[in-house]
Amino acid sequence: MKIICIGRNYVAHILELKNEIPSNPVIFLKPKTALVHQSYPIHYPEFTDDLHYEAEVVLRISKNGKNIPERQAKNYFDQWTIGIDFTARDVQQRLKAKGLPWELSKAFDGSCVVGDFVAVPKETMDTATFEFYKNEEKVQSGDTSLMIYSFEKIISHVSKYFTLQMGDLIFTGTPEGVGPVLPYDELRGTLNGEELLKATIV
Ligand code: MG
Repeated sequence: MKIICIGRNYVAHILELKNEIPSNPVIFLKPKTALVHQSYPIHYPEFTDDLHYEAEVVLRISKNGKNIPERQAKNYFDQWTIGIDFTARDVQQRLKAKGLPWELSKAFDGSCVVGDFVAVPKETMDTATFEFYKNEEKVQSGDTSLMIYSFEKIISHVSKYFTLQMGDLIFTGTPEGVGPVLPYDELRGTLNGEELLKATIV
């Protein structure tokens, strides 16, 4: 099982981090060991002073595939949820400044939390909304109609490089409003109004 993450998929978030709008999706991976179940506390890593949340819609791959055409991509996932792509932002800025890969800032143990998976309503998935709360303050609001790359485009593009296997997860990018977390913060995510994710930092 692998975790594939899309970076820079919402224009307002690209602008808040002063990045360029990419001509293809930005892709990176997290290992299986990055994943923590939401019922376990997230440990604030000792190597960062600026741990950030990025709330994202997460798709679960339901069928193996390679070189999947966009028009068939819908058939390769059936469940989704809200997840957090935790990022050691200070580490990432240092790596980016040197043109180095991001793994140390994005793929560490506990850098990935997902909520409860539910069936994807395929007819309305391109206009889904999601919210993310830190200590009951709403800090991110997303709308899948604002993604630069649709779910189908992501699946098709990613599968040119990586064979998708049943159970793989795809993080589809975060909207604007990313920010720091601190120990004892309570995090909560909803998708189409349904609460799917609850996590605590320690
Ligand atoms: Mg992200």
